[in-house]
Amino acid sequence: METKNITLNIAHLYPKLLNIYGDWGNILTVKKRCEWRNIDVNIDAIDLNDSIDIKKYDFYFIGGGQDKQQTAVSKELQKHKASLQDAADENAVFLAICGGYQLLGHYYQPHNAEKLPGISLLDAYTEAGNKRFIGNVTAYCDYVKPDTLVGFENHSGLTYLQGDTIPMAYVTIGSGNNGKDKTEGARYKNVFGTYLHGSFLPKNPHFADYLISLALHKRYKEEIDLSPLNDDFEIKAHKTLLNKKY
Ligand code: GLN
Repeated sequence: METKNITLNIAHLYPKLLNIYGDWGNILTVKKRCEWRNIDVNIDAIDLNDSIDIKKYDFYFIGGGQDKQQTAVSKELQKHKASLQDAADENAVFLAICGGYQLLGHYYQPHNAEKLPGISLLDAYTEAGNKRFIGNVTAYCDYVKPDTLVGFENHSGLTYLQGDTIPMAYVTIGSGNNGKDKTEGARYKNVFGTYLHGSFLPKNPHFADYLISLALHKRYKEEIDLSPLNDDFEIKAHKTLLNKKY
């Protein structure tokens, strides 16, 4: 199917609250990589007390944030738990970064504070650890080419996956989900969570295109060929992190 006359509709969830370490750059990357291919993009910023029309959206993005902002978003997300679960069941794409990722699981238990309920799109849970994981991450991801992902992590939450939820990738450098089991992020159907800030997608254009293809397939029920782009700068940034000596 030609990419002309097609549209991608994105819901950016709570950008005023969850949007740290350049996470906005992920939305910008998806927008530009679509527009460079003549794919129209509509982005709706969803704020507290806004409704979410899941029939409209193909792609949902939620960024990272500190415990305080997560508390407000956790409460708000409960209003949309059933409808967002329906969206995930209909293969909508979700990309959730760090604090947003933690809220797509069953719960996030901060230090000395009330447990924050998630919306269980991922069969995962997070509990605050005593150590903060901060630094560059490289990871192996076998369903994209190249099979590497790079980013930056800054979290104290330890995330554990269970059931049919699988890792998004496996860390080769850095801590990832919990600094123990070598997993980084999570995936169930087209729901992706990751600890990779940086922002994540500008330095991983192949993963951005993978998500765009999944979201367009969800809307148009067929493979949409994404024309190749000149990714020289993006690949240079990717390789700079890959080859960094630690
Ligand atoms: N507050 C959460 C943690 O520290 C998430 C932080 C973030 O989004 N970078 O684990």
